[in-house]
Amino acid sequence: MCNHDSVRSSTTRRDFLKGSLVGAGAMASGGLLSSTSASAHASEHSRRDMPAHSGDPGRRVLIRGGHVLSMDSSVGDFERGDVLIEGSRIVAVGADLEASDAEVIDAKGRIVMPGFIDTHHHQFETALRSFLADGIMFDDHTSAGSPNYMDHVLGKLTPVYRPEDVYINELFGSLSQLDAGVTTVMDTSQIHHSPEHSDAAIQGHSDAVRRTVFGYFEGQGDQAQYPKDARRIREQYFSAANGLSQDGLMSMVMGGEIYLPDHEAARTLARDLDLQLAYHVVGSLGMAETFDEMARSGQIDDSHILIHMTGMSDMAWRAVRDAGAHVSLAVPIEMTMRHGKPPLMKTTELGILPSLSSDVECTMSADFFTQMRSTLTLQRMLVNELALQGEEDRPSLLTSHEVIRYATMGGAKGLQLDHKVGSLTPGKEADIILLNAEALNVAPLNNVPGAVVTLMERSNVETVLVAGKIRKWRGLLLGADIPRLRDELIASRDYLFEAADIDRHMFN
Ligand SMILES: [Zn+2]
Repeated sequence: MCNHDSVRSSTTRRDFLKGSLVGAGAMASGGLLSSTSASAHASEHSRRDMPAHSGDPGRRVLIRGGHVLSMDSSVGDFERGDVLIEGSRIVAVGADLEASDAEVIDAKGRIVMPGFIDTHHHQFETALRSFLADGIMFDDHTSAGSPNYMDHVLGKLTPVYRPEDVYINELFGSLSQLDAGVTTVMDTSQIHHSPEHSDAAIQGHSDAVRRTVFGYFEGQGDQAQYPKDARRIREQYFSAANGLSQDGLMSMVMGGEIYLPDHEAARTLARDLDLQLAYHVVGSLGMAETFDEMARSGQIDDSHILIHMTGMSDMAWRAVRDAGAHVSLAVPIEMTMRHGKPPLMKTTELGILPSLSSDVECTMSADFFTQMRSTLTLQRMLVNELALQGEEDRPSLLTSHEVIRYATMGGAKGLQLDHKVGSLTPGKEADIILLNAEALNVAPLNNVPGAVVTLMERSNVETVLVAGKIRKWRGLLLGADIPRLRDELIASRDYLFEAADIDRHMFN
């Protein structure tokens, strides 16, 4: 066994709290994580034409002359169009908008569209990236000896997390997705071993300055206060009178896994605290039977976020559609980790608008171009196979525009944020990304949704705004000292593997 105590003593809880307070103070003053970072100096030149104080009340910014993909049919799309922002909100979308008092972002050659929305991401696992690239979900005795998610990640690594590990993993994972144009996430944080762990997760999200739905899932060990600490968290951080919901960027969802004994208590708390309830539903480990029973007895409603939905019965699917519950699909993960076939045919047949979710970076990238491309090609493969077999009764082929809808409005509706985000609609919050359509891998631009889904990747995400505030400018993420944070993440990684007594293998 390794010596946990010597590792733990290198970063005490007091150091962590001190660090997080510095972060919070810097954020409040507008300097975010580090005002003296090397990247800040390097970006001085490229920032000269960046609108100042974007997102501040009354501040007007005009995104001018882009290819505008609004994802709102009542607004329409514009081959050459403008988006006018005032403060945190979009006030107009159209061609040749008049706004002489606004600062201008030149969007020539850029696709202007809403930011992506990830409805299920276990961000606390950022330090475990690609550790389980070839792994499956659990040991079903068919892949002898190979590492699996239940035993290695949830069973060994998850229990050793300290609050400071939670903080840096959440923050780094958030900044990485923000850099890739994912402006909203539901963090599926199954890491609430103590109230301090929960506080650290929330602090990490807050310091990242992006739209975040904090998913309060379970923890492990005798200090864990799940699910009852939901009351304190809701009151302290997410009540209307005080806390993070004031600036509108953060909200809360209750996690309530149906395979845990706490499920009933979590459901009751979600109702009492007026929170949505999210849980994994996979057709193994007895979950299909439990879910069938819930469906039969009318226990599913429109506040539920159902993650995966692989291997479910037709009866359960009808209940989900009739209840108006939301379905979150993690297509690449479901395919590679043996969750079962992603139910894209079911959602298409039943007219359910799903969202996309990245799930776990120990096994797959959290980048949304990967999500959209996997979803498009899988659905089309399934339908194309039916066509080749001469089956005339088949769902229609998924299109690039529709899969972008999954990645934007699908997520917004699923998290009940569609009045705020998911499309470029006047009155909504300005969560906007600019994608470089003049890049070597994209030009010449012939079809906007097609280019986004079939050609682009995260290097094309040039500028990112969250609630009108510029968080990435012409290729450079702002307000974060990435080298310093990366060192902290590496230190966390080193501790986690040592404490869990797991060897890492760089080449096999
Ligand atoms: Zn998950």
